[in-house]
Amino acid sequence: MRLSGKIALVTGSSQGIGAEVARRLAEEGADIVVNYRSHPEEAATVAEGIRQLGRRCAVVQADLARVEEVRTLVKESVAQLGRLDILVNNAGIEKNASFTDVTEQDYDAVLNVNAKGVFFATQAFVRHLVETKRSGKVINMSSVHEELPFPHFTSYCMSKGAMKMLTRNLAIELGPLGITVNAIAPGAIETPINTALLHNPAKLHDLLGQIPLGRLGKPNDVAGIAAFLASSDADYMTGTTVFVDGGLLWNYHEQ
Ligand code: BGC
Repeated sequence: MRLSGKIALVTGSSQGIGAEVARRLAEEGADIVVNYRSHPEEAATVAEGIRQLGRRCAVVQADLARVEEVRTLVKESVAQLGRLDILVNNAGIEKNASFTDVTEQDYDAVLNVNAKGVFFATQAFVRHLVETKRSGKVINMSSVHEELPFPHFTSYCMSKGAMKMLTRNLAIELGPLGITVNAIAPGAIETPINTALLHNPAKLHDLLGQIPLGRLGKPNDVAGIAAFLASSDADYMTGTTVFVDGGLLWNYHEQ
């Protein structure tokens, strides 16, 4: 097992990609902090599965949009499991609206969770590593939309563009501390974030036509990459984004 003895905090891990990443890291031997904002039952189910694998698991509620809660999340994780080695910045939200209709409230909601929350979660994690004089790994759950425009989701695309540069910047600044920072950019994965799309046959059909591998991704398609980036197999990787998108990003063909 590649992650035996490691302890990982996965934000937003009560559902979707985060839940699968939490499970996969546990399968690879890590103890896990499951974080949720508003789905305690789902978080408890994920935690139960992790404990059945023989791993330790703490469940901590925190809203990534609130910096005080983010700091408490890291503190509480360390208090419950002893220390942290891996941070997966997975929690993220998106809001669909035409540019002219976007409200300040929705803009703030997206940027606060997807950019500010990631920034301060990483800061709290890195402070913990520095205080305890240890190296560690940061994995950011980005999106193909760190590169690819997504009309009607401008705030989401801005947040993922920010995540791309946070990943590159921190890779350079934290490299000398032995801390690696990488990102995963999923394409269209079947998770609660795109429930609306999954229930819209016309849109779904159109999207599938743009994915060379011809299907949506599953959380499991992403989780294995997170386990790899969290492991010593990725010790010499930093500042990189790994795309897991069935070919969506670079798809272009003439009809
Ligand atoms: C978004 C989904 C979208 C997918 C492909 C993801 O980052 O969260 O809503 O379907 O990208 O465009």
